[in-house]
Amino acid sequence: MQERSGRVVVFSASVVLPITAPPIRDGAIAVAAGRIRHVGDRAWVLHELHTRGLAFDEVHWPGVLTPGLVNAHSHLQYTGMAEVGQGRYAGFEEWAHAFQPVYERGLDWGADAAAGARAMIAAGTTAVADIVTDVEAASALHDARLHGITYWEVMSWTNEAWAERGRAEVEARLDALPAPPGTGLSPHAPYSLDVEPLLEIPDIVRERGSRLHLHLGEAAFEREHGEAVSWQEKRPASFMALREEGIGTGATEFVDELGVLGPDCHIAHGVYMTARDRATLRSRGTTVALCPRSNAVIGLDEPPIAAYLVEGNAIAVGTDSLASSPSLDLLADVAELHRLARAQGYANRDLSALLLRAATLGGAHAMGLDTGPARTGYLAVGAVADLAFFDIPGPGASPAAMSGVDDTIEHLVVGGAGRAAATFIDGEVRWASAAFTEQTGVRA
Ligand SMILES: [Zn+2]
Repeated sequence: MQERSGRVVVFSASVVLPITAPPIRDGAIAVAAGRIRHVGDRAWVLHELHTRGLAFDEVHWPGVLTPGLVNAHSHLQYTGMAEVGQGRYAGFEEWAHAFQPVYERGLDWGADAAAGARAMIAAGTTAVADIVTDVEAASALHDARLHGITYWEVMSWTNEAWAERGRAEVEARLDALPAPPGTGLSPHAPYSLDVEPLLEIPDIVRERGSRLHLHLGEAAFEREHGEAVSWQEKRPASFMALREEGIGTGATEFVDELGVLGPDCHIAHGVYMTARDRATLRSRGTTVALCPRSNAVIGLDEPPIAAYLVEGNAIAVGTDSLASSPSLDLLADVAELHRLARAQGYANRDLSALLLRAATLGGAHAMGLDTGPARTGYLAVGAVADLAFFDIPGPGASPAAMSGVDDTIEHLVVGGAGRAAATFIDGEVRWASAAFTEQTGVRA
């Protein structure tokens, strides 16, 4: 169904999960011109519209309605690299060894990125942090009309080459990225770039009000080791040069000293992080996008999800790419985080609600999309109408009404993968399952 400008559409469901407000049984939202106009009890929303004399269509789904999912770390262009992602590795170096020859062989990055975007939309995703390494893949989010940020990846620059032509080249790449969505730069990782580009890339994006995203704490060798020593006055040429001098400074402290972290920056993985590193992320306002299935394929340790939750870090969830993960279904990573958090001793009842928040509002916050005119990741008046419906039954008419809703959230978080029923972006249907079409008459 194409939503016509001005015409109101009511989306109602057995359970509506706004994220920034309590769950609503028999809830509804009203949408006009791609934005949310009312959120609440279905009866109240309909009453409001009748009172105002507004005509509307209604789409009713006997399941769950959430904000569109936000995938906070991916490389859509690697969607054709499942032959790498279906392996199992003994660590980052072994995985990189498998990845490199397939990457160098070259694939149809543009077509693969487009296929990845379609798969994400079919999994309930409406916004993505997408890292682009080859220019052929740069328009994937733009072409799919997905929200999020396209990040141009910057890696392998030495200080000398950077001084010669780095800034101009990277600025040209950044400015050429198709918009919308938003754009940014992704300095690949602390160990794959010298110091000068790591110092200057944040300035390039900050001058533009743009965004930063990098891999941090993904490889075990990034971990802090040995005694704390002051290293700053050595003016190292790179993180690896520091390590060659036998200095065990952790990668998080290293990039923090260079001024990379901040609220306009989010990091991916955050596996090898000490308590001090996690505190650094909190104090800089930096979100960590957790990608637990990718970590498992590569053979890394588990991300410290329980510690992040207990300590109050800002968290988001990413699938990473098919070069290190079995699917682009974000809820499969959410389920894995649920399992890991319980195994790591997180016992609070709020676990499912916190993880659903991470997979929606948390990702929007990571990319600066939780406020402002393009705000998404939650269902509230004025936010863009990015919606995901799931084939998860609502609670029966049990007397324990709210505990029934808690069970529904738990069911979605633990078993929601593969159960997306429909996805709307800017109020427009972009994907619908056969069951959704049969129930509502809405087809993509
Ligand atoms: Zn990645």
